[in-house]
Amino acid sequence: MRGASFPFALEMVCVESLDFDAILSRLGIAASKVRLITGTTWSREVAVTLSGRIRDRRVEICDDIDNSLAQHRALAGRDDRHPDTLILGVGGGRVLDFAKYHASQLGLPYLAVPTVISNDGIASPIAILRGDDGQMTSQPTTPPLATLIDRGVLERAPNEALVSGVGDVISNRAAVLDWDLAVARGQARPNALARIMSRSAVQNVLGAPPNLRDPVFFERYIDAIVLSGLAMYISGDSRPCSGAEHLIAHAINRDQPGRFAHGLLVGSIAPYVVWLHDPGDRSLWPLARTLGLHVDFMRYAVPTRDFTSLMCAARAIRGDRFTVLDTRDDAELEREYQRFLVAISARASRRGEQAGVPVHASG
Ligand SMILES: [Zn+2]
Repeated sequence: MRGASFPFALEMVCVESLDFDAILSRLGIAASKVRLITGTTWSREVAVTLSGRIRDRRVEICDDIDNSLAQHRALAGRDDRHPDTLILGVGGGRVLDFAKYHASQLGLPYLAVPTVISNDGIASPIAILRGDDGQMTSQPTTPPLATLIDRGVLERAPNEALVSGVGDVISNRAAVLDWDLAVARGQARPNALARIMSRSAVQNVLGAPPNLRDPVFFERYIDAIVLSGLAMYISGDSRPCSGAEHLIAHAINRDQPGRFAHGLLVGSIAPYVVWLHDPGDRSLWPLARTLGLHVDFMRYAVPTRDFTSLMCAARAIRGDRFTVLDTRDDAELEREYQRFLVAISARASRRGEQAGVPVHASG
């Protein structure tokens, strides 16, 4: 029996003692040059350590990445003379998105070394880059051939990154409900494998306290992030991991670019979207509380946005994405938002938790 070809490897490594040649030969990559794309601070330190592990290959370090299509074009202009180049991304979401897009556009092999994980992008086929008009745009890419995970590096990332990363994973629950609804209405294509992967990712993080220093949680978290990214690769779109909660988050972010982490927003909004589908489904509530996510997400919107205008803006983000927002009128959505907040704070006070005081995850 022949297995389906699936070119993705996940390796647990220690950057300081990495056998780079062995990894390349396992992956079948023959490159005489490495373009190492990284950030300016902590990521650069890791990148410099990593470059010390690369032997007999020319290494070009490109830092100060501004995440723009223009920067990609400028860098791509240098490439005619070096077709056998490996792209190595060392950094957080922005750096890895840029490296992934850059490698995809040039048809070059790409390896990712995350120094912080704050969303499901490390293995996804999508990159968010700044377009020529200054707006962030979502670009299709090829996922990395391999993602190298150094636990010691990731443990040093700020706790907000973990909150955001787990927030992005739990948003899958809302996204899949929206996807199911769209499929039932003939507005989207089903994909059972991608659906299972997306749902499994959520189950992975719901089952253990969110602490990167706990080896059990760490493994489950990495698996969840990878499952989410690959679910999108399998389905060929972002449906498994992006529903109404992503549309609302994008609308909030568009008014104040870069102010809030993506995963923080989508994780905060997801419990409300799940409520719209099924008020009895409270599966995300305990973890949202542990993470300190503010489920009263209107607090993130600019003061000039009322609930109705935010919902209109959310629907306009992607007119072709059918979600639960398309099945309710704005007054009903706002009524449900109020009912949802009453229900979730009633549960918190029944359990003796102080409403509005986030309990941040340790680690
Ligand atoms: Zn997301």
